[in-house]
Amino acid sequence: MDKKRLAVFGVMLIAVIIGLALLLPKMDKKFPTQSGKPIVAVSTFPLYEASRAVAGETLEIRPIVPFGSDAHMFSPNPVQIAEISGAALFLYNGAGFETWAQSLKNTLPQTTKVIDMSAHVTLLKDKDHGGYDPHYWLNIDNMIKMTQTIEHEFSALFPNNARIYHQNALLYVAKLQNLKSDYQAGLQECKNRTLISNHNAFGYLAYANRLQNVSVIGLSSDEQPSANTIAQVATLIKNHGIKTIFFEELVNDNISQTLAKETGATAQSLQPLENISENELKSHQTYESIMRSNLAKLTQAMECR
Ligand SMILES: [Zn+2]
Repeated sequence: MDKKRLAVFGVMLIAVIIGLALLLPKMDKKFPTQSGKPIVAVSTFPLYEASRAVAGETLEIRPIVPFGSDAHMFSPNPVQIAEISGAALFLYNGAGFETWAQSLKNTLPQTTKVIDMSAHVTLLKDKDHGGYDPHYWLNIDNMIKMTQTIEHEFSALFPNNARIYHQNALLYVAKLQNLKSDYQAGLQECKNRTLISNHNAFGYLAYANRLQNVSVIGLSSDEQPSANTIAQVATLIKNHGIKTIFFEELVNDNISQTLAKETGATAQSLQPLENISENELKSHQTYESIMRSNLAKLTQAMECR
């Protein structure tokens, strides 16, 4: 097929899929799956986990961004759009994280309720771009607010299960409270409180734990730093005797490796939980277990006692 024909075919295929997506929800209001459970579609991993924790066995929580991919770079294909259209509820992170969600929202059928989670948490301003930093789930207080919002939304849609949702949310929030006090204790007294990372994913973690956050590039993972910026951060690392430079898992770590080489510091990964890898999923890693492993790396790097 030549390019033009391929394009026409592509447009037709998309039209058919969108047509189906618009029709199907009318055929079955809550659009249950083979399991008979209604679907909740979610974008980021923290939304996936908190939704699963609250839902228990009552709902099917469907992640839209494939595990192991850089969630910043994702945009949905027609099949994924059809999946979202078939959900009773679509939860997305918001605050500019999913640039695709804003326009998709207006094309979804009325049977899909849409929640922008960023409207329900405490946001930090993005110093460089005037918007908000979207990595808000790394403040455990926000993860608690997200869980409570999910409980509220699930209960509104499926009131028969409201008691289950309430109990599940209480249990999950208790775990998060525990995690939060371990962070407070672990990062109470440290030799150095500067958290250096490649991409600015850890602002909330720093804010919640009184760390100073320095990143080489901004809030999106695909920016390229200038030689000047790299030199400035290298000077800061040397002057402050910083021994560890963090980089985000699932994101290109070139910048941190370059800096490490230049300064003699070690490059160490931190998991920002935008997504998890297939391996992490298979080994049943959770928000809590990954946050605990992050905490261990932080306390070591910052020489906390
Ligand atoms: Zn990020």
